[in-house]
Amino acid sequence: MDDPFRFADQMGPLKIVHIWRPQLALRAVVAIDNIDCGPAIGGVRMAPDVSAEEAFRLARAMTLKNAAAGLPHGGGKAVIFADPKMPAADKEAMIRAFATAMADLVDYIPGPDMGTDELAMGWVHDEIGRAVGLPREVGGIPLDEIGATGFGLAAAIDVAAGHIGLSLTGARVAVQGFGSVGQHAARFLGEKGAVLVGASDTHGTLTDDNGLDIGALITLKHEGGALRDYRRGQKRDGEAIIDIPCDIWIPAARPDVIHGGNVARLHAKIVAQGANIPCTQEAEADLARRGVLVLPDFIANAGGVICAAVEYHGGTEASAFAMIEEKIRANTKAVLERTTAGALPRTAAVNLAKDRVARAMRTRRWEH
Ligand code: NAD
Repeated sequence: MDDPFRFADQMGPLKIVHIWRPQLALRAVVAIDNIDCGPAIGGVRMAPDVSAEEAFRLARAMTLKNAAAGLPHGGGKAVIFADPKMPAADKEAMIRAFATAMADLVDYIPGPDMGTDELAMGWVHDEIGRAVGLPREVGGIPLDEIGATGFGLAAAIDVAAGHIGLSLTGARVAVQGFGSVGQHAARFLGEKGAVLVGASDTHGTLTDDNGLDIGALITLKHEGGALRDYRRGQKRDGEAIIDIPCDIWIPAARPDVIHGGNVARLHAKIVAQGANIPCTQEAEADLARRGVLVLPDFIANAGGVICAAVEYHGGTEASAFAMIEEKIRANTKAVLERTTAGALPRTAAVNLAKDRVARAMRTRRWEH
């Protein structure tokens, strides 16, 4: 049998709990990595092919993300081994059983992730009184609807642009993945004077050197259309978004989209990571060598988790926006100040997060 302590280091994981309810075929793992900054927040992922190792790795990523965001929360994650497309009644029964099974893990506050949504968090909250990412009617702040992550991304970009002497007025922006994060990032950057010269979705890329109408494209997507349905601009294949020369390139779709094989095609001054791990390590190092400023995902896309924390503490939508703006601006500035020439902002961001956890650890009784 695998050594159950194979993941352990100075930071965690504090607990890895297996949950098994044979009557419902419920198999789940909750990983609470570290709670030195406060109770752990992290999503509940439902998929047939998850693993305890994945739960731990995602929990560790949340420890760093929450600390880097400056939140009084640690990192945790849960995985449920099941197909999220199962019949609705079965899914509700399974999520409710999962919630009651983890009721006494009070250091873990669940949120939505792949395969779960705000309704699922509503069920969890109904069972155990603890969850974030709730429906509005039970105290939730709908972070995708209000654009929490896109708003934070635009704030991070504003700070980065100032850092390299780039004015956002007239700055050329390209967005890969015109979904929730991509649309709102484009909208908030547009309000700061930037021009959207390219956007892509799963059907292809739309470009216009003179600037695309951001509001019209958002309406088109909300009505179920694809970017290629837009009556103006040039239509190209999905990969073409990488070739668009621009000042700010925003990946907001999938992991690992920029890699050793295509990074040379990317010509931008700033790459602002809306998606999680959109660049391979190799690509990120190559961009740094070429002087491209890469804003790491867990600094730039923390708007959603900051919003969730505000929700948990009973705050309003307005206070969520204020908190996102304040924290993301301060954290981006701190990371850029710590990034030495040629080094990766990601390394500076990880060190910033680790320092914060280490300082929080010193306040804990068992550390003395
Ligand atoms: P979403 O599903 O709303 O949007 C994703 C968009 O990407 C869709 O429009 C889809 O058509 C498009 N897409 C998928 N594959 C593509 C491809 N190969 N090329 C071009 N477009 C493609 O998802 P989202 O909530 O906007 O999240 C986007 C990314 O940001 C994900 O990686 C997610 O994990 C990450 N993220 C989201 C949030 C959030 O608050 N929603 C927070 C942090 C990180």
